[in-house]
Amino acid sequence: MSKIPVVVNGALGKMGREAVKAVTEADDLDLIASIDMDDDLAETLSSNKGCVVVDFTHPSCAYKNCETILDAGAHGVIGTTGLTEDQFQVLDKMCADKKRGFVIAANFAITAVLMMRFAAEAAKHMDRAEIIELHHPAKADSPSGTAVKTAEMMALSREAAGLPDFEGPESEKELIDGARGGSHRGIRLHSVRMPGQLANQEVLLGAPGQTLSIRQDTIDRSCFMPGVVLACRRVRELDGLVVGLDRLLFG
Ligand code: NAD
Repeated sequence: MSKIPVVVNGALGKMGREAVKAVTEADDLDLIASIDMDDDLAETLSSNKGCVVVDFTHPSCAYKNCETILDAGAHGVIGTTGLTEDQFQVLDKMCADKKRGFVIAANFAITAVLMMRFAAEAAKHMDRAEIIELHHPAKADSPSGTAVKTAEMMALSREAAGLPDFEGPESEKELIDGARGGSHRGIRLHSVRMPGQLANQEVLLGAPGQTLSIRQDTIDRSCFMPGVVLACRRVRELDGLVVGLDRLLFG
């Protein structure tokens, strides 16, 4: 059986280097190019129609890269965060029009996917929720894509159950601007950036007399790679955009 041709974009970065290693080690994947900032993505893809592009670059170029990949007739496995809801909608339509398999996942770690699922389930049964995410200091965007996706999944889970968005109590007086963090559909989001952290998240939920904490810790960037390899294997069979690993993992 012929191997799946894969291009890694952002190959010199922390995630890109892991992806190059994972693709090289997978028997059924063929690393045909590893490129970075100084290379031309469109030109690389011009002679590799139908290949899979793994993208771990920067939020500022995530959308443009997706467009370039789609225009080139390739499939995307996008780990780069920072895409807006509007951009997701445009990409969804582009993928549907082209019937092109494409995967965008804010977090390729199985424990993160499970944490989001458990949080979405718990959201239906609790009165308040806040999310604290902790990352390494070089992370470009805040809050993390995973935190926003978690909040969105929790809100959608409540919506499906006929429940309103969470409504947090606001501080009567915020002595320091931002002390209560950002907010997405009534869920407060707090971003911690410090050395020693890689990518961790805790979802705190509360109801009278009880709390629930759902925490996910990333120890090493290798944790993202089984998800990336799985997406590379499956993306060409899809006929549109899949956001998150859930559908690939759980059907
Ligand atoms: P990094 O800064 O270590 O690496 C980014 C690389 O992309 C660098 O080599 C940089 O030169 C390159 N780059 C920047 N702009 C480019 C462009 N226009 N074209 C080609 N290459 C370009 O960052 P990182 O820690 O590897 O993270 C990369 C992205 O992946 C971030 O958005 C981060 O949030 C995200 N991320 C996602 C997951 C996930 O599971 N989805 C996990 C970790 C990080």
